[in-house]
Amino acid sequence: MPAGIARPEALAGSGPPEALAGSGPPEALAGSGAPEALYIHVPFCVSVCPYCDFVVVGGAAARGPRSRVAAFAAAVRRELEMRADVLDARWGAVGGGARPPLRSLYLGGGTPSLLPAAEVASLIALVRERFGLAPDAEITLEANPGPDERGDAAELAAAGVTRISFGAQAMDDAALARLGRRHRARDVAAAVDGARRAGIASINLDLLYDVPGTTEGGWVAGLEAALALGPDHLSLYALTLDDPDAEGLTGAGGDHLPVSRGARAWRTRARQEQDEDRAASMYEHATERLEIARFDGYEISNWARPGHESRHNLAYWERRPFEAAGPGAHAFDGATRRWNAARLDAYFAALTPVDGGPGRLPPGGTEAVSPSGAAAERVILGLRLGRGIAARLGDEAPLSAHLGLALDAGLLRRSEDGERFRLTTRGRLLSNELFARLV
Ligand code: SF4
Repeated sequence: MPAGIARPEALAGSGPPEALAGSGPPEALAGSGAPEALYIHVPFCVSVCPYCDFVVVGGAAARGPRSRVAAFAAAVRRELEMRADVLDARWGAVGGGARPPLRSLYLGGGTPSLLPAAEVASLIALVRERFGLAPDAEITLEANPGPDERGDAAELAAAGVTRISFGAQAMDDAALARLGRRHRARDVAAAVDGARRAGIASINLDLLYDVPGTTEGGWVAGLEAALALGPDHLSLYALTLDDPDAEGLTGAGGDHLPVSRGARAWRTRARQEQDEDRAASMYEHATERLEIARFDGYEISNWARPGHESRHNLAYWERRPFEAAGPGAHAFDGATRRWNAARLDAYFAALTPVDGGPGRLPPGGTEAVSPSGAAAERVILGLRLGRGIAARLGDEAPLSAHLGLALDAGLLRRSEDGERFRLTTRGRLLSNELFARLV
């Protein structure tokens, strides 16, 4: 656990962190606090993968004469200024007792490595000025591995990036082609090598399993190929093929974009080639292999060498306050969740109106987390983590009603000292079923 990070249950129901107690304005909701992390969503990719549910636009919008990247950079800068103004008014100036500098900045997407390095440097400078950045802040940038997408690692390092997360997804060309990816396996090796040479301190590779047409043998070989590159962190995700249209997430205020007809047809075909048992076997293999390789499975889908846990993602799982900017981005102040609508035109219209006016914050929504919702989040997010949750949460709702069943079914185990509950590997595989009972 990084220094200075309290366990999530230490935060539960305790109001602002101790350093903030009594310093917030009267209207601050119980449990809320100034952000410790900031997410900036960069919604451009050279092409859009058929399985992707992120807020992304591709093609001419992403590069070339009709690129909207520069316009986006102007708009997101405007949003960052406005969000900072709101925080100033609510928590005081950055550096004050209630407003410590951020411990993490994350540029995600999309493909943030499509931003010119000078733009990345400029965004980091703005964040440092208006939100503060701790001297040891983790500054992550997501990148695609292709030679025309990954950016210049040396320039990114000079801009202040400390961590690069590469969307490798697979380590063989056939699987990459099936996924509709532009890069090839050799590009992943070149990207990691370039980042290392540039002095990037922490490198993550994202990999997908249960990819249609792949075998367990192919997965084993792919994991070995990824390990051979010496990453510091691995994120392994089962390919999920949800339908955000059917879930009602793609309306004017929704945080998802509509799925194209081609992508929907691709997903229908791909779903037929997925296999839950094969996916489970792939996950179990990864769990065993990465333990041998001395990676800590510190979260259901994430493994790290010591000291390379994602500080930013830990803030999410620990329910720490985080700010966010960009279309579709989500924020949380410890009590209320807020999101920006996904649609790019509405985002531009609000922040950089054509009449040259001052603009306003983009459309979106907010939702106060109820006490029972917070209790469920605390258990579910805590159980996602390798360290699990304090055993006393087993006596409280919502876990108390399901604890016996979860223990009997081998989904949970109690730590040897009796102080914590943790998911077993079986529990990790069946976590969705357990979590569905807790909400
Ligand atoms: S590269 Fe990543 S963010 Fe971009 S479309 Fe593909 S999956 Fe989505």
